[in-house]
Amino acid sequence: MQTKSVYIAGSTGSIGTQALSVCKKHGIRVVGLSCGKNFRLLAEQAKLFGVKKVHIGDAGAVDNLKKLLPDCEVLTGEDALAEQIYHSEADTLLDAIVGSAGLKPAVSGIRSGKKLALANKETIVCAGQLIMDLAEEHGVTVFPVDSEHSAIFQCLLGNNDREVKRILLTASGGPFFGRESLDGIRAEDALKHPNWDMGQKITIDSATLMNKGLEVIEAYHLFGHKPIKVLVHRESIIHSMVEYVDNAIMAQLGTPDMTIPIQLSLTYPNRMESDAGEVDFVKLGTLSFFEPDVEKFRCLQLAFDALKTGGTMPCVLNGANEIAVDAFLHGKIGFTDIPKLIEQTMNAHNVILDYTLDDVFSQDIWAKEYARNLLSAWEQNK
Ligand code: NAD
Ligand code: MG
Repeated sequence: MQTKSVYIAGSTGSIGTQALSVCKKHGIRVVGLSCGKNFRLLAEQAKLFGVKKVHIGDAGAVDNLKKLLPDCEVLTGEDALAEQIYHSEADTLLDAIVGSAGLKPAVSGIRSGKKLALANKETIVCAGQLIMDLAEEHGVTVFPVDSEHSAIFQCLLGNNDREVKRILLTASGGPFFGRESLDGIRAEDALKHPNWDMGQKITIDSATLMNKGLEVIEAYHLFGHKPIKVLVHRESIIHSMVEYVDNAIMAQLGTPDMTIPIQLSLTYPNRMESDAGEVDFVKLGTLSFFEPDVEKFRCLQLAFDALKTGGTMPCVLNGANEIAVDAFLHGKIGFTDIPKLIEQTMNAHNVILDYTLDDVFSQDIWAKEYARNLLSAWEQNK
């Protein structure tokens, strides 16, 4: 179903702002917006799109936002965001919040029967099958915005799902691919991604390869538990592939520009003109492929381990990763400490295999608290 009206959660971020450009280009009505802290940009966006319902995570910014938007419903608080989404007249929720904070909004969108255009991969990582089951129960489509998953979705079209042999999930390899040692890497080095311009958290995740790990878990649940192989592809032109039982492979290609998957998540089953550039194959010359180094990039291996363990383990992996990335960005730990913090948190977790949404919410809190305590202990032992 093509989106006519949308609520964009996380509208001030990298995905959110690009989504608004798509809405402007194609006349998609924007009826709700939310962000974490950036009240000035949120107010600007609301005015530009004539939005009457907004939400801000930072309670301290509510009064400022109300002054800028006197004719709007301005809310704060986690439950209020879920409520605003639930009652919004939008036919689609685009969840572009970063981190597990995107989970409750996604659940609320599904419960209210809105199509879910999902950029927030942490939702699927944390709650996996529960989200897919909830969507099915409410007759809701979960449409991936992540470029790899959008690619896989497109590679599956017109084929028999039962004839899929495996998914080939491509990875750029990040800024430190092929580097001898990962010691001494600073946040400013890790924030330079070779191909994509994204929010800070996902840029660090791309440098550690945790992003690919999260995407493996995401693909596993979105596409019915198929075998997945990660393939480093430096140019980020092939966005992923599906191999069938006859060894034929379908691939989706394009320039590394999120406009394409964001737009498709809103316009599908239709394709429309986009502002993304064309691929110039002659200029590209070659496309290269490599095995990922899971020993050096431990985070990818930890994600495979969490998926294998199942239950609440992927949620714990994700929660500990959020704390580790934040600590790294603030110069509190080194780059190679990120997988250590995650692994120690995972080792301490009593996994719940037959889990509920409430377990996911509580184990997300547990993992973050445990990782924070570990950080304090490391600090004291320095
Ligand atoms: P970003 O940091 O640029 O933007 C995040 C948005 O979420 C902002 O609007 C921010 O205000 C809001 N936010 C942050 N914390 C919040 C909280 N606690 N409560 C409510 N709102 C909060 O991030 P991004 O790069 O746009 O990524 C968003 C999501 O999309 C992530 O899950 C990421 O993994 C996924 N994704 C991003 C890209 C990309 O190119 N940026 C590609 C694929 C997937
Ligand atoms: Mg991706």
